[in-house]
Amino acid sequence: MQPSVLIIYTGGTIGMVQRPEDGSLAPVNFDELSKEIPLLQKFGYHIASITFDPVLDSSNMTPEVWVKIARTIQENYAQYDGFVVLHGTDTMAYSASALSFMLDNLDKPVVFTGSQLPIGQLRTDGKENLLTSVEIAAARKNGRPLVPEVCIYFDSKLYRGNRTSKIDSQHFRAFDSANYPALAVAGVDIDYAEEFITYPVSQGILRLNTELCTDVVLLKIFPGIKPSIVKAILEIDQLKGVVLESYGSGNVPNFEWFSKLISAATQKGIIIVNISQCSGGHVKMGLYETSVALQNADVVSGYDMTSEAAITKLMYLLGQGLSQSELVNYMTQNLKGEITN
Ligand code: ASP
Repeated sequence: MQPSVLIIYTGGTIGMVQRPEDGSLAPVNFDELSKEIPLLQKFGYHIASITFDPVLDSSNMTPEVWVKIARTIQENYAQYDGFVVLHGTDTMAYSASALSFMLDNLDKPVVFTGSQLPIGQLRTDGKENLLTSVEIAAARKNGRPLVPEVCIYFDSKLYRGNRTSKIDSQHFRAFDSANYPALAVAGVDIDYAEEFITYPVSQGILRLNTELCTDVVLLKIFPGIKPSIVKAILEIDQLKGVVLESYGSGNVPNFEWFSKLISAATQKGIIIVNISQCSGGHVKMGLYETSVALQNADVVSGYDMTSEAAITKLMYLLGQGLSQSELVNYMTQNLKGEITN
């Protein structure tokens, strides 16, 4: 039987055209987009598409739209072998991370892609990104999908979605996954690194987690950060979780005021997750004197997670009504391949 792929078009540069009034780029619908890619038909697959209304510049992405993407996948799950989500690059890593936590028992590919240049432009990177993503979404070996994960395909590389960050706004290599190898590399052939792909062991039915708590904040430390600012952030009404972007291997200023504010926050029950501002490597609290106070304040190690994975994992876990110890436990555990442990 011919493979079937559903393309879910949420927006992004890939489907944008220049607005005559001011020359800025704005998204158009999939019918206009697909005129640019008649080659898709040559695969011989059954390909269908759904266009979101409205189509978004992904800077306007929200958890509500993540739920819409997840529901669209669920409603069409039985009919398709794989899914391609066309999405703006700006927040693609957040969306792919969020979806990895929201979809349980996933056993089919969900490939996010987009482009740096609109598909209508001659030098676009969008055609290759889309065509290869469709091929990956349809790829099977020994009767099972080759990549049953939420991933991002961009500029010849397939990455695990929750290991990826946008690293470039100018070049075609817009994404990288510093702490996890690529799941596939597309050249003349598409070479799948099966040893790095997670294959489901037991196959229950696809389940959605749509409760996400957004009472969270990302706090990036910098030399000169003021006590009043840290205090204002940590004392935000209803705040439940903080992703603390520390230096290097998890270090922060060990000024007394800073340690006190962090301890006061964790004592109030706010979960603070320590991740590094470095894209590669991992947090090791206690290695330097400048992270001991965090350890003593029960700050949780985010180890080698990306910011995007840490904040969306926190939203997901806080939405599950867990006890404090379960929350801490799950935060440090590998749930969807987002953390090494
Ligand atoms: N602003 C665009 C977006 O994220 C950028 C892109 O698609 O590359 O929707």
